[in-house]
Amino acid sequence: MFECPSCHNLYKWKKSMLAHLRYQCKQPPRFECKYCPIRNYQKTHIVRHLRVHHPHLSPMFFDRKYNAVFQL
Ligand SMILES: [Zn+2]
Ligand SMILES: [Zn+2]
Repeated sequence: MFECPSCHNLYKWKKSMLAHLRYQCKQPPRFECKYCPIRNYQKTHIVRHLRVHHPHLSPMFFDRKYNAVFQL
């Protein structure tokens, strides 16, 4: 296992750890729910969150990479 020297998350592969260190570690998650403070690094998690927690609202999320709100 490879440990992130910064946050001590464990990774099976060294390249995964290095990618985490480069793109995720200490950075806010890329995707945010538009309706609550939930954030995640993966879009699939936000999509599932929207379906489960806000089923009556149109599924919209904020994408930090494009600095814009998107609708599914
Ligand atoms: Zn880290
Ligand atoms: Zn939410």
